[in-house]
Amino acid sequence: MATAAPPKAPDRAEGAKRDIVAGGIVVAAIILFVGTGSNVMQSVVRALSGIGGGTDQVLAATLILNIALILFGWRRYEDLHREIRARTEAEQQARYLADRDPLTDFLNRRAMLDQGQALIESAAAERRHVALFLLDLDHFKTVNDIHGHAAGDRMLKVAAERIAAVLPPSALMARLGGDEFVAMLVFEPAGKPHIEALAAEIVATLEEPVTHDGQLIRIGASIGLSLATAADISMDTMVRQADIAMYHCKDEGRNRFCWFEAGMEMAVQVRNQIETGIRSGMPRDEFVPFFEPQVDIATGRLVGFEMLMRWDSPEHGMVEPDRFIPVAEESGLIGELSLRVVRHAMEIAKGWDPSITLAVNISPQQLKDPWFSQKLTKLLVETGFPASQLEVEITESSLFENLPLVRSIVTSLKNQGVSLSLDDFGTGYSSLSHLRALPFDRIKIDKSFVAAMQGSPDAQAIVVAIVRLGESLAMPITAEGVEDEATAIELTRLGCAKAQGWHYGKPASAMATAKLLADRGLLRTPVAPDAGAAEDERRRSA
Ligand code: C2E
Ligand code: CA
Ligand code: CA
Repeated sequence: MATAAPPKAPDRAEGAKRDIVAGGIVVAAIILFVGTGSNVMQSVVRALSGIGGGTDQVLAATLILNIALILFGWRRYEDLHREIRARTEAEQQARYLADRDPLTDFLNRRAMLDQGQALIESAAAERRHVALFLLDLDHFKTVNDIHGHAAGDRMLKVAAERIAAVLPPSALMARLGGDEFVAMLVFEPAGKPHIEALAAEIVATLEEPVTHDGQLIRIGASIGLSLATAADISMDTMVRQADIAMYHCKDEGRNRFCWFEAGMEMAVQVRNQIETGIRSGMPRDEFVPFFEPQVDIATGRLVGFEMLMRWDSPEHGMVEPDRFIPVAEESGLIGELSLRVVRHAMEIAKGWDPSITLAVNISPQQLKDPWFSQKLTKLLVETGFPASQLEVEITESSLFENLPLVRSIVTSLKNQGVSLSLDDFGTGYSSLSHLRALPFDRIKIDKSFVAAMQGSPDAQAIVVAIVRLGESLAMPITAEGVEDEATAIELTRLGCAKAQGWHYGKPASAMATAKLLADRGLLRTPVAPDAGAAEDERRRSA
């Protein structure tokens, strides 16, 4: 399909040429007028008074033409001048807009990359340094989800205004897209503390809530900083390094700034290796369920198991979940990974005595999936594992984003008989309103308090408070991380019903768990002695 040619850009050379021609006509006319003035005037007077001859009339006509030419030329000259000025302004405006982000009026990505590169080079020539700030708003997506895009746009504008208010006018400032901003600043080699003060000030100013539609909206920011001390670093590298530092900041707990350090790059490589490992390991069933016993403290009776994932990697050996679950969450793989391993766990737990429950950890990411409840139900149906034997553990952080969706997921699961535990209680906000937000059946006290109970009156006070809270809400408590008899006794005294931890047993493989259950007569189908080896073989050859 033929498209219309874009309007031709104003041609300055051509304009200037026409300018000269118009100017020339005026000048020539003036010279002619002055040069022939005296004779002509006499002839004109004669022609007008009717006494002049043919020559006089010709000269009069020439004069009139001459005046007309002067006026015409002058008008033309003015028109051209105006046209050129308008075109130049339009051209400047177009160039300005092409370089700008319309929402914040900051530079856009392309312009920043060009101008930033030039800045690095000019600073290096003056033996000065350049700092690049890469700023990412924290929880911006939540603002968009909960308050709508108008609120999101307003937050971006306010963020830009606040950044611009902190930085000197000489700084280059850009929005790279989404909620990511970049600023660059030239400084003297000794000026690093000043750069850090600016970064801290930006973090502080972005922590101030913004009022939108009568509501207070809070965001925050993480800033990665990278440094150029010479011209041999490219703009791309500076952005990449600041990006790595920014992610490091987010891991460290957000609302802060971090300088890029070489070791961080290594961490990114390891992270990428893990992500690749998850992708290739999933179909090979390298991710396996381990089971940690849960007991009734008073009687010591085994009541259930918490499934804890392990990565049985041919390359890295048995990998603990703290190393790969965060990567699976960030890379969007956790949903698939979790369902695969939960399915496996259900198939195993189907062989247990019906009095033994299976608890599974569900990541906040999974509760953003509107189909999560259907997916879990499908597993229950396909494996034939009873819903009433399943417990889902979620953390308080699951309740921050889209609570209505989480509530509908949880309600649908509870309607089928699945029970719900609030995991790691005490570490997050530990708010009563969170406890009330969903129909929890149980609270799990985080292992950090339980472990610290012996010898720390503070930790003990927290445990007591949580136990009392549970009592008043009729929610039984499970204590995690019970490592010794003394703690177990103390917990019973405080009224805590269930516990788990190394004192009762470490997380163990499906095989070891089956043996433990078989010893207590809690296994429906006895395990064949070589089942574990066969299972291993099946996985390795898959
Ligand atoms: P969590 O849910 O708090 O699990 C309890 C962790 O405490 C487990 O670590 C367990 O091995 C450890 N633990 C148990 N008893 C003791 C004890 O007496 N002392 C000490 N020091 N530690 C004890 P693990 O297996 O490394 O799991 C770490 C975390 O990884 C889990 O914390 C959970 O948040 C996550 N995770 C594990 N499996 C899954 C999963 O399938 N899905 C999701 N989303 N997260 C999982
Ligand atoms: Ca847990
Ligand atoms: Ca926990």
